[in-house]
Amino acid sequence: APGLYIVATPIGNLGDITARAADVLARCDLVACEDTRVTGKLLNHLQIRKVMRRYDDHASAEVRERLLGEMAEKSVVLVSDAGTPLISDPGYRLVREARERGIAVTSLPGPSAMVVALTLAGLPTDRFLFGGFLPSKDKARGDVLGALAAVPATLVFYETGPRLVASLEAMAQHLPGRDLAVARELTKLHEECRTGSAAELIAHYTAHPPKGEIVLLAGPAPEAAAPQGEDVDALLRAALAQASPS
Ligand code: SAM
Repeated sequence: APGLYIVATPIGNLGDITARAADVLARCDLVACEDTRVTGKLLNHLQIRKVMRRYDDHASAEVRERLLGEMAEKSVVLVSDAGTPLISDPGYRLVREARERGIAVTSLPGPSAMVVALTLAGLPTDRFLFGGFLPSKDKARGDVLGALAAVPATLVFYETGPRLVASLEAMAQHLPGRDLAVARELTKLHEECRTGSAAELIAHYTAHPPKGEIVLLAGPAPEAAAPQGEDVDALLRAALAQASPS
């Protein structure tokens, strides 16, 4: 049926494609993707040949307009390079505009690195805040962590190898005493999840500079400092207002 299909794809292990995702990819009219080479490899693996179109949220209004126009008669799949579209990946503008125009939008769930990391790290999962990528500049990163320090939840960030130690050092300063976790190369051959204090993880990753893709997590503030009951909503609102991305 025509409309927009948001389709999650593997974050490393191609076996994680769902049966539904493979079926919708095989039957759709058009695949919108971040990088036609990356998505081309996935389609090859599935022995599917499709028209692909590059799309990201910085695409011009005309590119988005054309895709939205096609959704009237065609089934358009949105995928990103890996994982769930819209999660630190393009798509939210497309979904918003599709909804505004009454286009049918549906989402096929699958892997997302932040969820995989949460299930591995052994940190509390009853409440968590996904912070996307931390800023790369020291000052901005410190401001974000400082604002989130009061949030009584596990904090989850996407990170890259070259920046990991600097982010751990910032956590040592702004989130003292927390249990931290580094989840790396999830679902791949060299999958690793390492937990410890900031000092322990800094020592390890300084000696062994990390390769590959990383999720960095910080457990909630230790109990004594944790706020109670109704403070939580107010704190979350205040922290989110301060930490909103530039
Ligand atoms: N949409 C994706 C998802 O649902 O996970 C995330 C896209 S974001 C542009 C890419 C970041 O996700 C990487 O820099 C890394 O922080 C994280 N990531 C993706 N795949 C990963 C993996 N296999 N292991 C660890 N982190 C991963």
